[in-house]
Amino acid sequence: MTDNKVAPYGQTGFFDDVCAFFDRAAQFTDHPKGLLDQIKACNSVYRFRFPIRKGNSVEVIDAWRVEHSHHMSPTKGGIRYSEMVNEDEVMALAALMTYKCAIVNVPFGGAKGGIKINPKNYSLAELENITRRYTVELIKKNFIGPAIDVPAPDYGSGEREMSWIADTYYTMNPGQLDAMGCVTGKPLALHGINGRREATGRGVAIATRECMSFAEDMAALGLTPGLEGKRIIVQGLGNVGYHSAKFLAEFGAIIVGLCEYEGAIYNPDGLDVDAVVAHRKETGTVLGFAGATKEFANSAEGLEQECDVLVPAALENQITINNIHNIKAKVIAEGANGPTSPEAGKIFTERGGIIIPDMYCNAGGVTVSYFEWLKNLYHVAFGRMDKRYEEKANLELVNLIEKMTGASLTWDQKKLVVKGPSELELVNSGLEESMVRAYHDIREIKVQNPKIEDLRTAAFVGSINKVAISYMNMGIWP
Ligand code: GLU
Repeated sequence: MTDNKVAPYGQTGFFDDVCAFFDRAAQFTDHPKGLLDQIKACNSVYRFRFPIRKGNSVEVIDAWRVEHSHHMSPTKGGIRYSEMVNEDEVMALAALMTYKCAIVNVPFGGAKGGIKINPKNYSLAELENITRRYTVELIKKNFIGPAIDVPAPDYGSGEREMSWIADTYYTMNPGQLDAMGCVTGKPLALHGINGRREATGRGVAIATRECMSFAEDMAALGLTPGLEGKRIIVQGLGNVGYHSAKFLAEFGAIIVGLCEYEGAIYNPDGLDVDAVVAHRKETGTVLGFAGATKEFANSAEGLEQECDVLVPAALENQITINNIHNIKAKVIAEGANGPTSPEAGKIFTERGGIIIPDMYCNAGGVTVSYFEWLKNLYHVAFGRMDKRYEEKANLELVNLIEKMTGASLTWDQKKLVVKGPSELELVNSGLEESMVRAYHDIREIKVQNPKIEDLRTAAFVGSINKVAISYMNMGIWP
């Protein structure tokens, strides 16, 4: 193994951990070994290096794109910009994308990319140069395209990087009608979609709300059903963490703790998430926030405070055998990919806790990426054709009812009833449907097989079965 292949933590690598989860779930399926081996393997691992000019010198950048499974095309997954990124991590994250897409019925194979840089150490022009060159390298090897492999944001990247990728791809493929579908998470003004930015966090909140709506599951934890009044600690104030906290609060939960890498803050009566973000923007740290009753310079201590739900929404391997015994939460909602180590997950489950697994819990992002990709292929925004038609039909119905009953609505009441859906409302409706349905599917698999101990195994069983059916439909396996 070269340095770049060394796993970032633990005795086994991240990809081995994902394979171990897969193997545990595979026992509950009856697929032949060859088929299971094909599903589990990373199909294509492209590792490349390219030079960029930095000041007066030239620097060589390490980068990857991994396509884990081609049972469906295109493959799909974000690009991570991080100094810590390595081949093992990109392979693991690509594999998780396969299972993630399958569980929420998004018709893509899994992929992931990585660029080994700390974006903070590069100027805007250098970041643009790196991103455009990365895209050209993908184009050269046929690792990008609306029907081939469609990147998206991940840790360290966002709308800005996606717009550079789209522009580079289009420049190199002039006249390709569907070119904008080569990447998702683009800015709204550049063929993006309303609601994509918030989608992962909104999905985390919906997943948590759904999980906590089952009275018998909550009773087993000594909790009442529902999110109302539940105390939540969120780790990470990036895109996923911030929006998870925001929507969980909107759904009635109390955000009692927020943890960032520089420290953590806590208040049993609740923290105002937007005020914390504003304070951090101003001072560079969550510490010193006036609304907190406790603060911890060691951020990890923040995870161990009193709460009902913990939402790790930063990086992998945050909850391990080193801290699991101090974690007070009864539910862990995995906003990040791989935040709970397998050993810690086992201990948590054995003591009765529920883990809402990453591959399902944070699937809201890729779900709305799917809607963005569809919008790019349709070349028309959702709702554009039918919004006014629906409004007119609804108004006629309301007028008819008024006439028949003699009742009369105020104009404000009428507007509420007749209103046609906006793109954002349609996106959020599709997201909610996908997340709610998937939770019920996963829970049902677990209920049907009492030997399945946790939701992660149940989610893997569901995904493996779906991917297996795709391969069987291709006629590769009888
Ligand atoms: N990077 C995100 C994830 O891990 C989004 C992927 C996508 O939208 O393709 O799910």
